[in-house]
Amino acid sequence: MSRKILVTSALPYANGSIHLGHLVEYIQTDIWVRFQKMLGNECHYVCADDTHGTPIMLRAEKEGITPEQLIDRVWHEHKADFDGFHVEFDHYGSTNSDETREFAEQIYLKLKAADLIEVRSIEQFYDPVKQMFLPDRFIKGECPKCHAKDQYGDNCEACGATYAPTELINPYSAVSGAQPERRNSDHYFFKLSTCQQFLLEWTTGQKTKEPPLQPEAANKMQEWLGTEDENKLSDWDISRDAPYFGFKIPGTEDKYFYVWLDAPVGYMGSFKQLCGKTGINFDEFWKQGSETELYHFIGKDILYFHALFWPAMLQHAGLRTPTKLFAHGFLTVNGEKMSKSRGTFITADSYLKQGLNPEYLRYYYAAKLNGTMEDLDLSLDDFVAKVNSDLIGKYINIASRCAGFITKRFGGKLGHMSDSDIAALRAVKYGDTLEGGGQAITSSEASLYGSAIGQKLDGARETIIASRNKIAEFYETRDYSKALRAVMQLTEVANAYVNHFKPWELAKLDDEEAQSRLHEVCTTALNMFKAITTFLSPILPVTASKVGEFLNTDVQTWESLHLDLLDHGINEYEHLMTRLDPNLIEAMVAANQESLKPMTESHSQTRHAEHQQHTPSPQSSGGTTSHSTRPAQNADQVAGYPLKGEGANVGAIAPIISIDDFSKVDLRVAKIVNAEHVEGAEKLLKLTLDIGEEKPRTVFAGIKSTYDPEKLKGRMTVMVANLAPRKMKFGLSEGMVLAASGETPGLFILSPDNGAQPGMRIK
Ligand SMILES: [Zn+2]
Repeated sequence: MSRKILVTSALPYANGSIHLGHLVEYIQTDIWVRFQKMLGNECHYVCADDTHGTPIMLRAEKEGITPEQLIDRVWHEHKADFDGFHVEFDHYGSTNSDETREFAEQIYLKLKAADLIEVRSIEQFYDPVKQMFLPDRFIKGECPKCHAKDQYGDNCEACGATYAPTELINPYSAVSGAQPERRNSDHYFFKLSTCQQFLLEWTTGQKTKEPPLQPEAANKMQEWLGTEDENKLSDWDISRDAPYFGFKIPGTEDKYFYVWLDAPVGYMGSFKQLCGKTGINFDEFWKQGSETELYHFIGKDILYFHALFWPAMLQHAGLRTPTKLFAHGFLTVNGEKMSKSRGTFITADSYLKQGLNPEYLRYYYAAKLNGTMEDLDLSLDDFVAKVNSDLIGKYINIASRCAGFITKRFGGKLGHMSDSDIAALRAVKYGDTLEGGGQAITSSEASLYGSAIGQKLDGARETIIASRNKIAEFYETRDYSKALRAVMQLTEVANAYVNHFKPWELAKLDDEEAQSRLHEVCTTALNMFKAITTFLSPILPVTASKVGEFLNTDVQTWESLHLDLLDHGINEYEHLMTRLDPNLIEAMVAANQESLKPMTESHSQTRHAEHQQHTPSPQSSGGTTSHSTRPAQNADQVAGYPLKGEGANVGAIAPIISIDDFSKVDLRVAKIVNAEHVEGAEKLLKLTLDIGEEKPRTVFAGIKSTYDPEKLKGRMTVMVANLAPRKMKFGLSEGMVLAASGETPGLFILSPDNGAQPGMRIK
């Protein structure tokens, strides 16, 4: 029977860019959802931008726009990043929606009616200039322990101490700089402490069919919940004072729901919007006692909210609680916390702009994810090695070595398979253990493939080669690493098979028998390739769909696992995937290092911290402009060539762009402080450009044919200052110099009028 499943990922905060840390979660969830859909289950995947709170309000103010304009812009950025990585939501909404507001109000009123809301007066820092209460992160001052200056209100980055904001020495408002006052204000509390009994039962699985938490998470709950004798839960402050960007609490004039109340409610709001589009029955998924399944994929840092507040709120508002929470760990890069100075705080956008295939990352994450809360490391060298050895060397290789023969020799039509080949395919289809079982390959069958496969099978005797059911189970339990290990073993069997029969040598033989064998071998290998593609398709959806076109069949349902492409016409093989060039990784890291500028976002990779932390890092000063990572399409562009053929007089004008598009390009007056030849380069000069930054930039420009470097020294020109740096053979190029050229010979770099100073912006 088909299951009915609702899946969510945590809502990204609309105050920052999606980075590779976030993507661990979205890719993990997307793979799981695609797998459920492949099985034929009814599975809905919703998410939304988390849009409320003080950081959003202040950032919009700083940019001179409304919060609505800000969150609209960020929504589009986030959506583009998710699309770029093939994260396919059924609906991607925003918490700033009527649906979310209605649910937040309904839940609140139910809790109030159940006597679970209490008003208390609390003392807080207040900014008299800005006329607002200050969250901890917006208060700075001297650390009471080590006396480091400019530390946040809740902890010291210098000595690591934590404290209350009131302990800071000489506190000041990070918003206005004013000295904050202490003032009292009424706050609304959800009496979480009265929910202990329910939560003790819920978190340990006494209320649900299966335990809702992973074992490590359940242990954590015991720490947070305490025991029946010792209640460790405290009540939860769910209100914030005006001015605030969010939903007003019903019955109040100046109190708003704290962002953490409406964020999880956003799951419901977004799903409600999906129901509106599609006619899905909302209540079937959310009424108390629902038989449908509800799963939240979350980072381990927001367990507290999802395992305590959220089920308690839902339960007492008469709604269903989650079936399970799937918490995961954080991303490290090269074994360390992501870091802007090392260039390992990598945005989703910069990855895509570098031209890297998103399926590389999906594959790599999948190869590391195991369904636990352990951290996951993206080792960049290992990333390159694994993509090239597994995806290209083992998987793609099966098709690329056999497909051409079908097209060239057999009119694009697959043929038959011999009995022994079919036995080999049984291993792919049913897998099972190599010994025992009706469908297992026997040693004698194995010997039919000759020693190569025989040895491989013998060597793998201890190993379970994945069966369809095994692989399905690994996907279901989110142990993608095991699923992929099983699939990679199948690719090894397929490659051993191809290596043994060597189609390229059969092709050289002229007799009919060899040709017929060639047809069989390629048919068999491509059937194996098809089955392996089906196993990989939740992880590599785009490649799978290309393979489907190539093989002229559906490879993306679990039902399509039949190995039945016999006498079947296929299309010409086209490149499915290219090797990962390590230079692109270096360039991506360099681009992220380069983007260390004042406009950059919070260092934290966790959503929770993003709510609190809005101010730019003190380290990230010194730059002149915000630095977007605009793509370098090819070396010519970076080197300063105009595109060939777009002549001075006759070239067509490019499509109209808006002023916003134009203003993305940061053009600066640059002084050429040095210019020199580059050894071994035919066209390039190496320019050193001063644009008023601490360190001059290096740019390689393709102007050697026209300019003597000696004559360039000291003159002014114009450069694109926010172009993504590009790793070239001769070094890193950190921008682009503009030059004119046309149909007639010649190349002309630009100059500003006298008086322009290095670093001036050109608008
Ligand atoms: Zn300190």
